[in-house]
Amino acid sequence: MLPRIAIIGRPNVGKSTLFNRLVGRKLAIVDNTPGVTRDRKEYEARIGGRDILLLDTAGLEEAPPDTVAGRMRASSEAAIKQADLILFVIDAKAGLTPSDRAFGTWLRRQRVPVLVVANKTEGRHGGMAALEAYELGFGDPIAISAEHGEGISDLHSTAAAMLPEEPAEEDEDDKDRPLRLAIVGRPNAGKSTLLNALLGEERMITGPEPGLTRDAVTSEFLDDTGRRVRIVDTAGMRKKAKIVEGLEQMSVGATINALKEAEIAVLVLDALLGLDEQDLRIARLAEREGRAVIIALNKWDAVEDRIAARRGIEDTLQTSLAQLKGITVVAMSAATGRSVDKLMPAVRETLERWNKRVPTGELNRWFEGALSRHQPPLADGRRIKLRYATMPKARPPTIVIFGPRAEDLPEDYRRYLVNSFRDAFDMPGVPIRLQLRGTT
Ligand code: GDP
Ligand code: GDP
Repeated sequence: MLPRIAIIGRPNVGKSTLFNRLVGRKLAIVDNTPGVTRDRKEYEARIGGRDILLLDTAGLEEAPPDTVAGRMRASSEAAIKQADLILFVIDAKAGLTPSDRAFGTWLRRQRVPVLVVANKTEGRHGGMAALEAYELGFGDPIAISAEHGEGISDLHSTAAAMLPEEPAEEDEDDKDRPLRLAIVGRPNAGKSTLLNALLGEERMITGPEPGLTRDAVTSEFLDDTGRRVRIVDTAGMRKKAKIVEGLEQMSVGATINALKEAEIAVLVLDALLGLDEQDLRIARLAEREGRAVIIALNKWDAVEDRIAARRGIEDTLQTSLAQLKGITVVAMSAATGRSVDKLMPAVRETLERWNKRVPTGELNRWFEGALSRHQPPLADGRRIKLRYATMPKARPPTIVIFGPRAEDLPEDYRRYLVNSFRDAFDMPGVPIRLQLRGTT
């Protein structure tokens, strides 16, 4: 999924010229046939070393509204829905016009990142307009000359920095990269038994051997889809400690090390004991490390009242960590092997959510709704204004919210946004990072 950039602004500011310069070929040929609504097109381009899609908004300008501002708005509304970044072009030679200002006011209320581009500044032309462009309220404008190719590299690097982060390289060769899974849980929950059951059930590549960190042990197998799975497990080391100390205590250090090597944690619970403080503590560690989590509700064979046992777990999940609400729970028996085959499909499903990228347009439709359902609070008697959201990265999903004084947002409202995001995009069991950035 490539990020999308749209170039907007009033007629004759140089949008097509800039478009051609960025795409590198004479592609944006204007079709002046009246009444012909062209299909919206996208062109591949490279901006600051990033592959992107440039939206061709020229066709949209032929839409009916007959004032300049109305046409700009009509074309921009469609572009904003799809774009990860808007380049708002003004003509620095002509100066900032009333329609630029009116459009800027409207654009400021839209939930999308905007970079102002002051065009036609060749030969130190238009310095005043570039300054005026600050008044539009989108931060530093970039001064360029699309026709003469001046300021373009500045535009490239600034625009690239405003795009969502490039997906990690490892996403690309998914097939070769092992899925990394940590088996965590308190002593005697059945972690070693589960590891053996998985290695027995699936096609083992390597049995337990020392892992990257001191106290972890890794094994690899091929799952039912042929994907390599590396299991990081702390059982081997812990067993030794148990003998030495005679204590049945969870090793927090070993758990953290296993989590660091993994993408997802399978939290093994002893169904006879339910979900207790020690388990929640492990779940919190996984959250802190940014790992996805699912629950293996083990020893299901030994449970007599399964309905009560399930309800007990679900109740605790409801009232404990918000991250755990709706988390996948696989009831199984590592000892008998029953339902162990349900674990890997559940792991893959949760990891898919952990990997998910939400496009800026979709993200901001959610954001708009979340803000209208529950307004941001006041700070020092003034309402905190939030402008837009971006999702620069996944693994774990990270959202950045921009607005003047966004940093002042209190903890409970941040939590509200995170939970609302988790519900909207169906990400139970996935830690979500929220960052707030103040803007001008
Ligand atoms: P659009 O209507 O916004 O797509 O604008 P165009 O790209 O068609 O450009 C409108 C006019 O401005 C054309 O005559 C261009 O040659 C001119 N133009 C575009 N960029 C520059 C520039 O950097 N400097 C100057 N002086 N003229 C430019
Ligand atoms: P670990 O400390 O988490 O690695 O737990 P182990 O795998 O050593 O298991 C602890 C105890 O629970 C052992 O006595 C296992 O036989 C038992 N156990 C493990 N899985 C199951 C299961 O599915 N059902 C039952 N009834 N007992 C189990």
